Amino acid sequence: MTDILHEECGVVGVYNAENASQLAYLGLHALQHRGQEGAGIAAADGSSVRCRKGFGLLAEALSAADLSELSGRNAIGHVRYATAGGREMENVQPLLARAQIGTIAAAHNGQIVNANVLRGELEQQGSIFHCTSDSEIILHLIQRGSGSLLDKIAHACRRMDGAFSFVLITEKNLYAVRDKNGLRPLCLGKLPDGGVCAASESCALDAMGAELVRDVRPGEIVKCSAAGLESVFYTDASRCRLCAMEYIYFSRPDSVLEDVSVHTARKLCGRMLALQDEREGLQADMVVGVPDSSLSAALGYSLQSGLPNELGLVKNRYVGRTFIAPTQQLRDRGVQMKLAANRAVVAGKRIVLLDDSIVRGTTSRRIVRLLRQAGAAEVHMRIAAPQILYPCFYGVDTSQRQELISAQMDERSLCEYLGADSLRFMRVEDLCSACGSPSLCLACFTGRYPTALYNASSI
Ligand code: SF4
Repeated sequence: MTDILHEECGVVGVYNAENASQLAYLGLHALQHRGQEGAGIAAADGSSVRCRKGFGLLAEALSAADLSELSGRNAIGHVRYATAGGREMENVQPLLARAQIGTIAAAHNGQIVNANVLRGELEQQGSIFHCTSDSEIILHLIQRGSGSLLDKIAHACRRMDGAFSFVLITEKNLYAVRDKNGLRPLCLGKLPDGGVCAASESCALDAMGAELVRDVRPGEIVKCSAAGLESVFYTDASRCRLCAMEYIYFSRPDSVLEDVSVHTARKLCGRMLALQDEREGLQADMVVGVPDSSLSAALGYSLQSGLPNELGLVKNRYVGRTFIAPTQQLRDRGVQMKLAANRAVVAGKRIVLLDDSIVRGTTSRRIVRLLRQAGAAEVHMRIAAPQILYPCFYGVDTSQRQELISAQMDERSLCEYLGADSLRFMRVEDLCSACGSPSLCLACFTGRYPTALYNASSI
């Protein structure tokens, strides 16, 4: 990804396992790419729920001492990237609520699009909010429902619109919930000793030693209790609209979403771009993928075209959030700090440059310039996604429409702006077929949002 889109969060849940919080820690570690601003774990031992959380990467946020205090056989965890709510500690999850029904901790991925409306209503009814994150609304709505906790969760889900995949624990039970469009992923796994896990991506199940069983279905609430697993649908108006960006960029290539391997989908995207170029007779010497999320697509392009897949760009893996650029000049050189062109490989060569998307265009432009400065003869940019034309309201930190460069320029002008010799995006229908499913949210490409929008001023 050359102009960074940020996913909001990742969640895990563990039910009925020895050292549940340590397993949750392993699962969160595998989801670190989904959020680096904060992390937390809540654990339940049958009679109480305790929570520890902190800022930064998981290893900075939670110490060994924290984990040792989180005893019990059930746990949930969260890694955070803040798109809704500020960066204060209160917004770091899991969120904990103590009520007459007991203690509840919840960890949420996604964005509730009618959050402002609901919050206003809840405040009118006397609710006092502890933090500014939309996730707290889930707890307040649950508290206001009637019947069993399962009924209360179903009530809360029926009030919310938008993207919400969340896990929740009480002193004794665990719940895994997905919104009726299944916008954010959430899957279930089985531990060897009979325990159950839930996670945003299956790579976290692998890290916890669990076997992927299935995705939580859109509109489903799965309850794990001493009685076993119970599945309830809070609505019969559910349909899968999983975020296409999960396949394109967010998820790890070793994850499987809705039975489709992310790596395989990306590889197919690369193949489709190569087929199109083959038809048009593009002549090139090699394929170069922008590390890391475009490497699968570059491999697919290479396999289809027969061109060598070369290491033309090298990523510095040690430039993290903590990198301090002491001068403005160095800050301006940001991308060179993270990526370097491999001169020995690219000099004098005609390159097909594979990237996964273009948001604002500034980073793509710098990468093309990097390759040219290293002596590349031609740079043909291929994007393994359609043009991003519309903003996201479901927990992805995209720009406003006026900042999305594809919404401002046609392909020819954009190619000129990037300094590339040619530019091609994927067609929406090719993306759907590469992901093996027409059941995707494609709103940032098509403008057809799967839910009502309550604050559409930025479209
Ligand atoms: S609008 Fe785009 S980024 Fe947002 S959920 Fe839909 S496909 Fe994903």
